[in-house]
Amino acid sequence: MKDFRLTDWLPTTKKEMELRGWDYVDVILFSGDAYVDHPSFGAAVIGRVLEAEGYRVAIVPQPDWHGDFRDFKKLGRPRLWFGVAPGCMDSMVNKYTANRRLRSEDAYSPDGRHDLRPEYPTIVYSQILKRLYPDVPVILGGIEASLRRLTHYDYWQERFRPSILCDSGADMIIYGMGEKAVVEISNHLQMAIEDGNAHLDYAEDGTARVGLKAFRDVITHGHCVPQTVSIYNKEDIPGGIVADDLILHAHETCLKDMKAQAENFRHIEEESNKYHAQRIIQPIGGRYVVVNPPYPPMTQDEIDHSFDLPYTRLPHPKYKGKRIPAYEMIKFSVNLHRGCFGGCAFCTISAHQGKFIVNRSKESILKEVRQITEMPDFKGNLSDLGGPSANMYGMKGKNLKACERCKRPSCIHPEICPNLNTDHTALLDIYHAVDALPGIKRSYIGSGVRYDLLLHDAKDARINQVNAEYTRELITRHVSGRLKVAPEHTSDRVLELMRKPSFRQFGEFKDIFDRINRESGLRQQIIPYFISSHPGCTEEDMAELAVLTKRMDFQLEQVQDFTPTPMTVSTEAWATGYHPYTLEPVYSAKSPREKLAQRMFFFWYKPEEQQKIKAELRRIGRTDLADKLFDRTRPMEWNKKGNAHYDLEGRRHRPEDRSGHSRRTFSKGENREQASADRACSKSAERERFLQNPRREAGDGRNRAMRRRNSGKS
Ligand code: SF4
Repeated sequence: MKDFRLTDWLPTTKKEMELRGWDYVDVILFSGDAYVDHPSFGAAVIGRVLEAEGYRVAIVPQPDWHGDFRDFKKLGRPRLWFGVAPGCMDSMVNKYTANRRLRSEDAYSPDGRHDLRPEYPTIVYSQILKRLYPDVPVILGGIEASLRRLTHYDYWQERFRPSILCDSGADMIIYGMGEKAVVEISNHLQMAIEDGNAHLDYAEDGTARVGLKAFRDVITHGHCVPQTVSIYNKEDIPGGIVADDLILHAHETCLKDMKAQAENFRHIEEESNKYHAQRIIQPIGGRYVVVNPPYPPMTQDEIDHSFDLPYTRLPHPKYKGKRIPAYEMIKFSVNLHRGCFGGCAFCTISAHQGKFIVNRSKESILKEVRQITEMPDFKGNLSDLGGPSANMYGMKGKNLKACERCKRPSCIHPEICPNLNTDHTALLDIYHAVDALPGIKRSYIGSGVRYDLLLHDAKDARINQVNAEYTRELITRHVSGRLKVAPEHTSDRVLELMRKPSFRQFGEFKDIFDRINRESGLRQQIIPYFISSHPGCTEEDMAELAVLTKRMDFQLEQVQDFTPTPMTVSTEAWATGYHPYTLEPVYSAKSPREKLAQRMFFFWYKPEEQQKIKAELRRIGRTDLADKLFDRTRPMEWNKKGNAHYDLEGRRHRPEDRSGHSRRTFSKGENREQASADRACSKSAERERFLQNPRREAGDGRNRAMRRRNSGKS
């Protein structure tokens, strides 16, 4: 591995600036996260992108916001602007659980320490900077500012808040992935300095610097930089308000009228996911928050450029001997693409990265993998070749003109768009190329896999064949014993609100997973993720979830209570009580009691939960479900004897009548391990049979096609 010097990181102190021979910097970034010089950490990316354009950038990670603010003063004022990068996660999500309890650690801080950043660093850091340097422009980036760009619900304050520009006093937000905007802003300011035609400020040595007036003249009122948000008086809005602008309900209206807030959100989401978006304007207190449309999706050259910058891929040396949990998690993983077209209602990815997939080139990915193989503690296993969704790499519409006109927030919900090319060929090619590199023993897929894409019956038989190959290869070569997937619920009504596929599809995928494992002599688990208290979800839905997952022999561990994070459809439905698209009322569990009453159903198998669950089922008049969960004489018999099971309505099935499966007998001489593996497979087969209920067998040609495709093909 290359021997790094201190100057291989962006400077974090005056001394490190001097080591580089700098007596000033152009941009200073204040980061809520520890400084890890890696393409997965936002402040590092912005710093490296600006550095590549010739700017001098320093990073002050986790400045002390108490006392005399010396961390905010130690580098002086920058020549162009201050950046506030609060962190890779919203600070409140990072700090608290859905029940507002303190998390065990801060994943982005050394040794997981909680005391190295304030709550809402976007606001705290900006206010300090504005107090110390009122004349220097402050630009916000990162997910905390990005998703709070307009009126939003703050779950931790339990109220609607205006654009974070109002609370922070900052001058501008860059939302989404900020590489292009920071370069464009810096270039305009640099040009203004060179031309000498802006109102400049001068240091004692005569160096010209940008002050707030120049920033406003050149950027806020001059160039309408895409993907930025600013506040204006009406007469100052660039170009004035025009017919093509999308005017939202005012912030004050949203505080009084929940339907208005819900309605606003539909427009915000649609514009976030459009190729050619409109400018959005929201009145607040006699002024106007103006959101310029985003840049078009990056080209492959642009995203490669961002990932190929000279990151050390390591935490700054100041953290020597300390553990940064998030870094430990990603240090042997590679991100293949940005964007997600899933449109899950509770997820913020598309609001931040957009729905169009931007793929890195194979060369760029392989270059990064080679770098990882040279790391001293790398043992040959890549923990993840992934992205926001593991298997969207290389996917896009067949007719791009149609995509440019499209307003759908999801390309795969409620049905997979006929224009979407679901071909996994490019992704398989990446897997093969990575696995062929010297030093790679195995590459795993740790990101969530969209199984609805794998089950999709495309019109093109070649694509179906490739996708079946991908499924088999994923399961046999890229699962480290446990494959994470996210059905999220069992109720199709709740899943519809979540914009997730029917639970039936999870069953189909699990059939395939179990069969391929059995055929390959593997003993791997599928780990489903579920959410309780999502808008629309009732205790009865949770009780049925418990019964169905028990029948599938799951004892759930990857579960979470819904957290209403800013700027998602689910949060708006939860907070306003109306679905943003239909404006119909939506029930949500809100009080701690209601939320706990839903959550406990995940843990039906814990003795301490059983009395509470029975009492709750009595209260909602569903004691029949208590029988299904706790009556040992009925539903679980089939697991042990393989002879019968009951569906939710209590109908008894004889699975072997339908599947023709005969139980395997062990030949003499099979060792204990084989016997045990086979017992596991036999158990899986029973579960598979449970899933093949008559309705699915008879009614769904697509399922039959999928089973045909996956039967005996390997
Ligand atoms: S046309 Fe189809 S593939 Fe293209 S963006 Fe819209 S939903 Fe996605």
